[in-house]
Amino acid sequence: MKLAIFNDNQIGIVDKERIVDITENVKWDKTKPFDSFVQLMEYYETNKEELESMKQSEDAYSLSEVKLQAPVPATGKIWAAPVNYLKHQEEMNQQFNNAPRTIKDIQLFLKSPSSLSGPSDPIVLPMEGSRTDHEAELGFVVGKKGRNIKTSEAEDYIFGYFALLDISVRGNEERSWRKSFDTFTPIGPYLVTSDEIDDPNKLDFKLWVNDELRQDGNTRHLIYDCNKCLEAVTQNMTVYPGDIIATGTPEGVGPIQEGDNVKIHVQDVGEFTVPVIAGYQK
Ligand code: MN
Repeated sequence: MKLAIFNDNQIGIVDKERIVDITENVKWDKTKPFDSFVQLMEYYETNKEELESMKQSEDAYSLSEVKLQAPVPATGKIWAAPVNYLKHQEEMNQQFNNAPRTIKDIQLFLKSPSSLSGPSDPIVLPMEGSRTDHEAELGFVVGKKGRNIKTSEAEDYIFGYFALLDISVRGNEERSWRKSFDTFTPIGPYLVTSDEIDDPNKLDFKLWVNDELRQDGNTRHLIYDCNKCLEAVTQNMTVYPGDIIATGTPEGVGPIQEGDNVKIHVQDVGEFTVPVIAGYQK
């Protein structure tokens, strides 16, 4: 099922080119979207068929008419994979000589939850003169609380997948600083529940800046796949419903500038395009 948050914190099911508004049906409180989202993830487990039947409703919009918001309305934490593709490690060593180790050695890092933004929102460059890069990634959201989750159990904890941009200033500051500016984690276009994804570790994904293809990867090349990422972060640390994991980026990262349009496409998940604007005075 494809679940989208749209317009004024409404919740809907995406069905081809339509979006069916289920805000009333699932008692979604638009003033408390995060609480409502956590409740909906619980509800989904045992009421999937009922939700599926709501697709027939006439209370629908054309998908092209609505403003899509981040499909996870807020999050307690964003765990992100640093060097999780070997070819990305190679390029970082060629350009910056700063990636001697992979995720196997350094594990994951935290991005600020307030960096989360939606598939219709611009990326706001925080300062002039710093190189800011795109990183195309597969992201997922955790559906239930867990700790010491094994890879064999991980699928039960992953509620759904989306395309994710891990926007990153290059520089010598701490990684979590460089990646935590407002709007630096756009996700979308909607959330695809994990029961609809055959194998999250075999998905093609691509990123364009304007019309130039910059990244062309497949999650089969992940060093830590989705399940292993979840195992790693829950070793003696607890994940909660709504926590997000960014699985890392393949080769092809590069700078974005004011006026650019950044498009990400993930196979079986969807695509979105966001503009880049300047947040500083010129
Ligand atoms: Mn990244």
